[in-house]
Order: sequence, then structure tokens, then C-alpha cells
Amino acid sequence: MLNAGVYPNTISEVDAEGHKELNIPIRQYFEQNQNVHAATQGHGATRTDVYFRPGAFDKITVEHEALHSLTGKSDADLATQLGWNGVDSASVFISQALRDNRCDKRTPRKKKK
Ligand SMILES: [Zn+2]
Repeated sequence: MLNAGVYPNTISEVDAEGHKELNIPIRQYFEQNQNVHAATQGHGATRTDVYFRPGAFDKITVEHEALHSLTGKSDADLATQLGWNGVDSASVFISQALRDNRCDKRTPRKKKK
């Protein structure tokens, strides 16, 4: 996790090496967190690396992770910008907002007459 730059924004790059729980490969993180389908690099020189659980992601997952790469923002920060009320999972809220706005479709929703 540490070498891949995949850890929460609440941990600074200076402090990251002191967090022993980050000294595991992404593969092990996925094994330990079966509900996690993707993880995005939030730290480091490029902030462009994204890791997906094989067979467990879709277009919305790719777009969700791209938002993290492009903005450098956490789930809570992104969800708050989208109107999240803090009750449900911020991650799930973001993906549902992308789905509700047809971000996985090529055409906009047809207008009602
Ligand atoms: Zn996320």
C-alpha cells in the first residue's frame, strides 16, 4: 500500500512510513478487504495508478476511481460535493450518483414529454 501510494489522505506522506499496516502489497489488502473492488494512488509523484479486483468492477468503478485520480479527493470529500448526507457509505453514494446521472451510458436520459 505504502509503495503504491495507496493510503488515506488523512495520513501525510511524512507520517506514512510509520504506519506498519501500510506495508502490505495491494493484493494482500484486497484479500483482507473482500468488499473493496478498487483502490487509487492518492500519494506520490504521479497519482495515476489504479488497482482493480479482477472480475469485480464495471464502468462506474473505473469512473469512480478516475475521480480520485483527477481530484486527489477522498470518498468523503467527493461525496460531500455531490450532496452526501453522511449516513450511507460515501463510496457507495459516489457510485450511485454516477449511475443516476448515466455516466456509464453513451447517451443522456430521454427527456419526458
Ligand atoms: Zn472511492
